[in-house]
Amino acid sequence: MIAVIVRAERALVDTQERTDFCFAIQDERIAAIAPFEELRERFLDASVRDYGEGVALVPGFINGHSHAYQILLRGIGDDLPFARWRDEALYTIIPGLSPEDVHRTFAAAFREMLAGGVTTVAEFFYLNGNGNAHAEAVIEAARETGIRLVLARCWMDAPAAPEAFRESIDTAAKRTRELMANFPDANVCVAPHSVHAASFDMIRAAGEFAREADCRLHIHLAEAAYEGEQTAKQSGMTPLRLLESLGVVDERLVAVHAIYLDADEKKALADARASVIHNPVTNQYLGDGICDVTGLLDLGVPVGLGTDANVNASILDEMRAAALLQKLARRDAGAFDAVRAFRLATSLGAKALGVDAGDFRVGAYADYAVVDLNRLCAPTSPLVNALVYRAQAGVVRETYVNGARAFKAGEQGAAGAR
Ligand SMILES: [Zn+2]
Repeated sequence: MIAVIVRAERALVDTQERTDFCFAIQDERIAAIAPFEELRERFLDASVRDYGEGVALVPGFINGHSHAYQILLRGIGDDLPFARWRDEALYTIIPGLSPEDVHRTFAAAFREMLAGGVTTVAEFFYLNGNGNAHAEAVIEAARETGIRLVLARCWMDAPAAPEAFRESIDTAAKRTRELMANFPDANVCVAPHSVHAASFDMIRAAGEFAREADCRLHIHLAEAAYEGEQTAKQSGMTPLRLLESLGVVDERLVAVHAIYLDADEKKALADARASVIHNPVTNQYLGDGICDVTGLLDLGVPVGLGTDANVNASILDEMRAAALLQKLARRDAGAFDAVRAFRLATSLGAKALGVDAGDFRVGAYADYAVVDLNRLCAPTSPLVNALVYRAQAGVVRETYVNGARAFKAGEQGAAGAR
């Protein structure tokens, strides 16, 4: 593949502003970062993408946890208590979707994410009870729109869950293996739903599967108080201690939510080198609680952000919510700053998912967004502060994944354009 040299008047690199920032893209990745003339000599046949005044390049955002088809619950699920939201909205609408419905819905959600600068999305996908056709529709939607997919392929066997979500352990393992073999670009990993929607045997088996397949294990953990009450009754343990007893708390674990954890449990996550995905907008929308992101980061736990229920599929919103919630939870405006929030959305999210992205770094995927500075309306603000506290999705002019344009403002379906 012929190299591309990207030259930007302004860029945000490791959260620091740089001027006249240049890098070369080859084979989907950043091949070199150097002054323009040096890149010109090294990549003789390269084409040049020149971003002049009025825009800045920022690393593509990482959406670490999403259920894209929940965009269909917008309006219908609003303002319902969690149990009613699940039973009357989620369980009523989602099980009836055909693979074609899934394809259309996911493509729409992925376009919305790309328009907000998201370049990688981890889809926690649980419509698997009737086979892989629905999951394949998700993969097709990702290919069509150009977003990078991490398919956190759900395993669920709770009798209370809709039949369209349920599988036996053997069937879930077989179908997950098939997806892994047939769709390497989907970054398939395993995702037992939660301690309440997957049996203990299924969670244990998913842990063994993750070790054998060398992949991440995503699971909803300690999202709401009722979960802890349930596990205490069933096993005498908290959700995290229960997961430990099932052998899945290790460096493969991606704990989604991680709200109801005591100090020792947070330390246990750090000691295990596990990751957390924080979903601050959904946590507010569903009245879940507030994850102690500050405490987890201080212990060295990589924390990423997710749009989860996709109230609005925007990582810009999630960054802002994450920062504001930490300030509120600690009653201290200085408890959390814009730089930390930006890292959650980029480099730390990528680390949590195990994806080589999230910043301008040699060897990383060439994923970035072009931000319209005129729409930020913050001439005196550092760029990172403006993005975290003030930016709306309309601020993104173009989004690139693997060096290829997947979104351009005013155009639909720009995937594959160069
Ligand atoms: Zn979720």
